Amino acid sequence: MGYSYDPQNVFARILRGEIPNDTVLETAHSLAFNDIGPQAPVHVLVIPKGPYVNWDHFVAEATPEEVLDFARAIHGVVEAKGLEPGADGQGYRLIMNAGEAGVQEVQHLHVHILSGKVMGRMICD
Ligand code: AMP
Repeated sequence: MGYSYDPQNVFARILRGEIPNDTVLETAHSLAFNDIGPQAPVHVLVIPKGPYVNWDHFVAEATPEEVLDFARAIHGVVEAKGLEPGADGQGYRLIMNAGEAGVQEVQHLHVHILSGKVMGRMICD
C-alpha cells in the first residue's frame, strides 16, 4: 500500500523547528514532547523523526534502527518519568490512533503515553 505523507502536518513543523515543543527526550531517530492538550497528569507524545503517517506505514518502511529507536524512546520516557509498573511504579497507558476509525488527527505517527492517574478500563465515548 502507498502512503502519502503531508509535510505540512503540525509534527513535521515541530521537527523542522518551525513551531516550539516542550521536549521530554530526543534520540537519533525519535522525539518525545508533552501533549499541548493533556488528557492525564502525564501525557507525552513520542514520534519518529522520519516522515511516517501511521504505525502501518512505519512498520512497512522504517529501518530496523528507526523501529528499535522508537521502541526504546517510548521506554526512555517511561523511565525518565518513573512510570514503570511494579511495586513502587505507577504504570501507564499507550495509545496509537490510526485512520478514521482510530480518530487520528495529526497525520504523523505518534504514540500517546498517559499516566499519573487511574484511567479506567478503556477510553471511549
Ligand atoms: P491524535 O488524535 O492521536 O492524532 O492526537 C493528536 C494529539 O496531538 C492531540 O492529543 C493534540 O493535543 C496533540 N497536539 C496537537 N498539536 C500539538 C502541538 N503543537 N504540540 C503538542 N501536542 C500537540
